[in-house]
Amino acid sequence: MKLTEPDFSDFPPGTVTEYTTLVCLACIFDIFTGQIGLAPRSAYSEIKRYAPTVEELTSPKAVRPFFDSEEKHPRCPYCDAAKRWQARLNTHCLEGGKATDTPRRKLFKTLQKKTEQFAIVEQKSDRRTAFFNWLDTLRLSLDLNEPGWLLEATKSFLERKEPKQDWTEVFEGLGVVRASSRLSEGWERDGARLYLSPELYNEALLVQYLVSRSHEHGGRTLVGRLTLPELLRRMRKGGYLSAHGIEAFDQFELFEKLIDEVAGSGALKLYYIVDRREFIDKVKSVYASYA
Ligand SMILES: [Zn+2]
Repeated sequence: MKLTEPDFSDFPPGTVTEYTTLVCLACIFDIFTGQIGLAPRSAYSEIKRYAPTVEELTSPKAVRPFFDSEEKHPRCPYCDAAKRWQARLNTHCLEGGKATDTPRRKLFKTLQKKTEQFAIVEQKSDRRTAFFNWLDTLRLSLDLNEPGWLLEATKSFLERKEPKQDWTEVFEGLGVVRASSRLSEGWERDGARLYLSPELYNEALLVQYLVSRSHEHGGRTLVGRLTLPELLRRMRKGGYLSAHGIEAFDQFELFEKLIDEVAGSGALKLYYIVDRREFIDKVKSVYASYA
């Protein structure tokens, strides 16, 4: 049966997160036949049904039988098995919500007939978690050594904030992004310059800070390197804190409240789509060599 690839192009930018991990089938067969003591045939039917958890599929630190590798012909770090014993599991995570309802329903309809190949896992989550997932993905897509990353990060933030706007068009041929006190909200493009309202600009700085922060040096932003106290002072002076009614006992509580403001709070559903095609194929060929 020929399968068409699932299409994620209808989803607004920033609402889909991708994960990938390798799984060693030699390790899995070893666990099922050795530790659990199943005959190869029963192990095979168990393994075919095996559904890894979201944590196993998305964790930055893989544990046996999962592992991550950038190599073309990696070997299993646990049992040294070669590539033909390994399967790649790709997972897409979709944020629930109004902006993704229509494309999600459409996509799920096409996947419903392929439940063995594509597993869908629904998970209750919240906006803050979704925001940090998004931030992790953004960090991986940026090269912080390239000067253009600040504009890229700003564009990604605006795409997430206002998904209906075509930001690729707005950023076409753009030279600089500045704050403009003339704007009480929104943005304005003037020649090679993009002006943001102080509020939007400060939120963009916070995102840049979060993407690039390190313990020794603070974060890097459009206004240069900022430590946490400097960033907070800027937000206070710019009126962001009073406009959003943010008060706090110390700078850490303040920072947390600021993140909640930018990330949004409240419940949110996450939908994980696990591509099991390679897994199923490999389980079959590995079992054939066992039997
Ligand atoms: Zn292994």
